[in-house]
Amino acid sequence: MNTSKQPDWRQLAERLAVSGAPFIDGKPHPIPDARQSTTINPVDGSDGFTFTDGGAAAIDAAVRAARAAWENGWRDCGPAGRRQRLLALADAILAHGDELALCDCLDIGKPIAAARGEVFPAAGFIRYYAEAIDKLHAGQVAPTGAGALELQLWRPRGVVGAITPWNFPLINACLKLGPALAAGNTAVIKPSELSPRSALLLAQLAQDCGIPAGVINVVPGGGATGEALVRHPGVDMLTFTGSTATGKSILQGIGGSTIKPVLLECGGKSPEILFEDVAGLGLAEVAAQVVRGAFWNQGQVCVARSRLLVQQSLYQPMVDAVVAVAASLQPGDPLEMSTTFGPLASSRQRTVVEGYIQSGIDDGARLALDGRNPAGFEQGCYLAPTVFVDVPPAARIAREEIFGPVLCVMPFADEEEALALANATEYGLAATIWTRDIGRAQRVAGRVQAGKVRVVASLAQVEGAGFSHSAEPCGQSGYGVEGGPDGLRSYMRRQSVELAAG
Ligand code: NAD
Repeated sequence: MNTSKQPDWRQLAERLAVSGAPFIDGKPHPIPDARQSTTINPVDGSDGFTFTDGGAAAIDAAVRAARAAWENGWRDCGPAGRRQRLLALADAILAHGDELALCDCLDIGKPIAAARGEVFPAAGFIRYYAEAIDKLHAGQVAPTGAGALELQLWRPRGVVGAITPWNFPLINACLKLGPALAAGNTAVIKPSELSPRSALLLAQLAQDCGIPAGVINVVPGGGATGEALVRHPGVDMLTFTGSTATGKSILQGIGGSTIKPVLLECGGKSPEILFEDVAGLGLAEVAAQVVRGAFWNQGQVCVARSRLLVQQSLYQPMVDAVVAVAASLQPGDPLEMSTTFGPLASSRQRTVVEGYIQSGIDDGARLALDGRNPAGFEQGCYLAPTVFVDVPPAARIAREEIFGPVLCVMPFADEEEALALANATEYGLAATIWTRDIGRAQRVAGRVQAGKVRVVASLAQVEGAGFSHSAEPCGQSGYGVEGGPDGLRSYMRRQSVELAAG
């Protein structure tokens, strides 16, 4: 990227004006007596963005606005109308990409180059579903006898409640809004209390570009505000991305309130399995990809490839190569375009990750690269790449999601042992298999517990499915399809209409 064409991010940050009030029915909506919260800048611990923690009162107002917008227009707005409005929103996201990227950069310390890079996929999710909605057929005709016609239709569900995490705030909001709105629903989003700013700005942009008031509502706040959304009887469907623990408590909330369908995208502990037949690809190049997969977004990624399983003959050279590349990742100021590795999102997250590092040491893993207390970054929430090798399979760091820059490396003897190690976790989001043996690729892909499996046999750049990619997690990583055409169906209900004309 040509950094000379970049704006002065500090100046832009000073000018960034986003209302911290809940965005309801097309405008900021003050909630009398509601608690005010302030985000903490993870770079230096200073106060960040002040917003209203909406609570049950704001959720109720937002759900009512979403219901009215659905009944009074959006559900009857045909595919062409939804397509046109959502395409306008995608354009607005691109046009205001710098401000949206800054919101996430300032809230959670995401390096600005990475945050800027996430604007295109965020707009892309909106655009993909906008383009899909007038092309995918809305149902089928079931086989019947003469005189009957049975239509199997896809209908919108109504009001969708969306709860999102902090690691990709803008992308996660768009990944939920794109299919939800294209399918004909309206939405109430509850972004993470660590990163509410981009969703609030997004709602304002939607209003400015012609999405009717009440179609997108945003209520910032913490867990209690999320719970109010979960339990609200006016919500027809919930879509959640976040930790497995919160996913479980959401299921309890639904069980204790009104039944509603739910899509759960939860935590992960994804394995990367490296078989010895890839030795010829070049260890340094493979190590560079391994390090990218493990430490991208400071390791705060649900599909972070946080467990590297290496076949015995390649083990030591691979460990050496990975440690060398990981050690070269230098933390930096998120507002500098050259920074590729920022702080963790919060001091709480850093404490959690440091606790895991200590548990790894206590459980007998060997610390080959220690990223704690990186020199020059004593303030703030910095923790540099950390690599554990010879990790005992029973260690907590081998099985539990850390959600930080910690890679666990383990050796294996053969395919059976690789699979046993890969599946020794409750999660099932993603897996990567490095092999050039097509039979092995098929066998391992079929038995590894993961919703998304990637087999890598070469270092060549390939074009993947992009926005058409859809997957469903398994195990404790959740359920329900996100992405691609099937992801649109997740936001619709099946209705059969029998026309018995005789
Ligand atoms: P989290 O579970 O702590 O919070 C997620 C959201 O849930 C936040 O908006 C939070 O305020 C809300 N919340 C908290 N308690 C709630 C309750 N009782 N009822 C309703 N809502 C509640 O997760 P996080 O720390 O924000 O994000 C990190 C987690 O998200 C990791 O586990 C990561 O793997 C997961 N994640 C998964 C995916 C995926 O696609 N599978 C993608 C990104 C992140």
